[in-house]
Amino acid sequence: MAEIMIEEMKNAHRILAELTYEIRPVVRGYANRTLYINLDDGTIQSKPVSQKMKDVLTGGKGFALWLLWNGINDHTKWDDPENELVLSCGVIGGITAYPGTGKTIAVTVSPQTGVIIDSNGGGYFGPYLKFSGWDALEIQGKADRDVIIFIDGDEGRVTVEDAPLEAINTHLVNKQLTEMYGRDDREKRAITVISAGQAADYIPMCGLNISYWDARRQEVRIKQAARGGCGTVLRNKKIKAIVVKYSSMNADSNGVADMALLRRAGQRINKEITDFDASQNDMRGTGTPYLVEIMNRFDLLPVQNFRFGADPDAHKINGELWKEQFDHNGPDGCWLGCTLGCAHGVKHYHLQTGPYKGQTVFVDGPEYETLGAVGSNCAIFDPGAVLEINFYADTYGIDTISLGNSIAFAMECYEYGILTPDRTGGLELNWGNSAAALTLVHQMANGEGFGMVVGQGVRGMKRIFAEQYGVDAKLLHDIGMEVKGLEVSEYMTKESLAQQGGYAMASKGAQHDEAWLIFMELVHKQLNTFEAKAEALHYFPMWRTWFSLHGLCKLPWNDIIPVSNKTAKEPQKVPEHVENYCWLFEGVTGTHVTIEDLILQSERVYNFQRVFNLRLGHGKRVDDYPPYRAVGPVTVIEYESRAERYDKEMRDLIGIDPEGMSTIAKMAIVRKYREDRYETLLDTVYARRGWTRDGVPTADTLMKLGVDFPDLISLVRKNGG
Ligand code: SF4
Repeated sequence: MAEIMIEEMKNAHRILAELTYEIRPVVRGYANRTLYINLDDGTIQSKPVSQKMKDVLTGGKGFALWLLWNGINDHTKWDDPENELVLSCGVIGGITAYPGTGKTIAVTVSPQTGVIIDSNGGGYFGPYLKFSGWDALEIQGKADRDVIIFIDGDEGRVTVEDAPLEAINTHLVNKQLTEMYGRDDREKRAITVISAGQAADYIPMCGLNISYWDARRQEVRIKQAARGGCGTVLRNKKIKAIVVKYSSMNADSNGVADMALLRRAGQRINKEITDFDASQNDMRGTGTPYLVEIMNRFDLLPVQNFRFGADPDAHKINGELWKEQFDHNGPDGCWLGCTLGCAHGVKHYHLQTGPYKGQTVFVDGPEYETLGAVGSNCAIFDPGAVLEINFYADTYGIDTISLGNSIAFAMECYEYGILTPDRTGGLELNWGNSAAALTLVHQMANGEGFGMVVGQGVRGMKRIFAEQYGVDAKLLHDIGMEVKGLEVSEYMTKESLAQQGGYAMASKGAQHDEAWLIFMELVHKQLNTFEAKAEALHYFPMWRTWFSLHGLCKLPWNDIIPVSNKTAKEPQKVPEHVENYCWLFEGVTGTHVTIEDLILQSERVYNFQRVFNLRLGHGKRVDDYPPYRAVGPVTVIEYESRAERYDKEMRDLIGIDPEGMSTIAKMAIVRKYREDRYETLLDTVYARRGWTRDGVPTADTLMKLGVDFPDLISLVRKNGG
């Protein structure tokens, strides 16, 4: 990029608000302050972190929820000025002795769901924010022009600056700002940038892009906190980017209590990664695309809007293909010290469409979720098309999971004649039409055409199609793969009752980061009773929530398996790694903990978030139902494609002989059986969690957990808890 251009951009900045602050070291994982910025009136201030915040909410997502709870009111909508975007790191976040410790957590009222979204991404921002002196950044209000926020952790200065000349799309603006604030490699390594692309000005399904400088490749690398519309909130506040500069990174920027204990845990897992990664999941070579082949083999890959779980063409976009295409020139950790290094990308990709057609770019990804969403779920098995969609979705800021599921839903509606070329502006949305899919992506970025309809997401389309075209709302509801307004991530759940609950009960909507129980249930047969399912739907969401309190990536927990697992009593919990995490917490904070203590940390925050949803008018049983497509076959073709399986279920489990019955009649019987089981699952899980039958945490449960804030207690009591 021409030097003069960067200089010109910088000269056009005017400082609109400023705070200088004392630089203080992080002590035992905490900066002990949070940063508040109000874009309406230019307030920038430091807030203290109280002992109560630490005791009840631990850090990371817990802090973010607490700040948001106190910043908004019961009626706040996503685009109200008082809605906040809160970004935070977590207590352990930023250590380099252990892999996967650099996640940023974003929390806000979601434009897609109207309740709380928490979304995490890699890429240096969270740790640099904390080491610059802030456990969390809380942004309220809306600027009246495009601005950037610059947190200079070297100088102890925060500014809000207007930024009229920078680009909006991520692959450009993140590079511009990295070059503006970092003159050489050493300085660029000290820069991290958050942005969202131009689609975030128009549609709700846009996420945050978080970047760091990859000196070996001379590239700005991008990771996403993609889910739930955090990028749409960023742009609604007219923020082009948030930049943090922190140059003093060292092995003990966290001010830890016991470095030897951290190293002990780190050496143990790093040896496992060196010894076993290549023969286990090959995260370092293949990354998450390894899952395509496995999901396809087990009939769990979403194909054609989750109608099917496998496709003969899946091999065209599987891990082997991507391993060949990825650039292996150097480690691919999205934070320092991540030896698992799965954040791969493709270099020298020639763009075929859109505003950057003809240019050669580095594409970060694709990851499994993208391959499932914009690949198999849309029946697009052309790797070039997938890469093109991946690049543009990222730079425009669009969440590829919501994007893929929304396009797949539109394609199925097109197949049924609900959509016609008249209604789509001439687009022929047949399965696999990658050119049409790309047109939709570009339309979303420009706020035009049928892309603006698909860009509203599955829940938005269901409403539009029912209202405007008079379509049977029940069919749309059955095939619309969203829960709470968030599109389902890329696993087929029809045969896993526990995972149906894992998706549909998840606080933010259907995302698998709370629970992934499919193999436990279907392959290892460990969840054969409702009680066992409920126990898993208690333990795993609590356990996985813990990562978000600490700025941690989940992948090193169970994407590398230690030898000790062979003899472990509960191998699915990976006990040796859980012990590592106890050591990490103790090593950072100096407080000895057991696994029960870690679960308690999570349980408090998990229940807090559930009550937060309740405050915003949701968070009850009625909000915890999946679409029937996630539970069983909606259409005749789905039933008949797996007729043997469903007929056997009728015979063995329901006690009805299917012989001679029509498919429609059999479908109705299977549906009743499966829906009844789902109701029993809800009852059992709610009881295990200490909630009412309506899914409300009881006051007793909150008090027992120590979440004893009077306004929460009064709220649950008002709702029968
Ligand atoms: S395992 Fe992958 S996603 Fe997780 S921190 Fe490491 S590189 Fe990032």
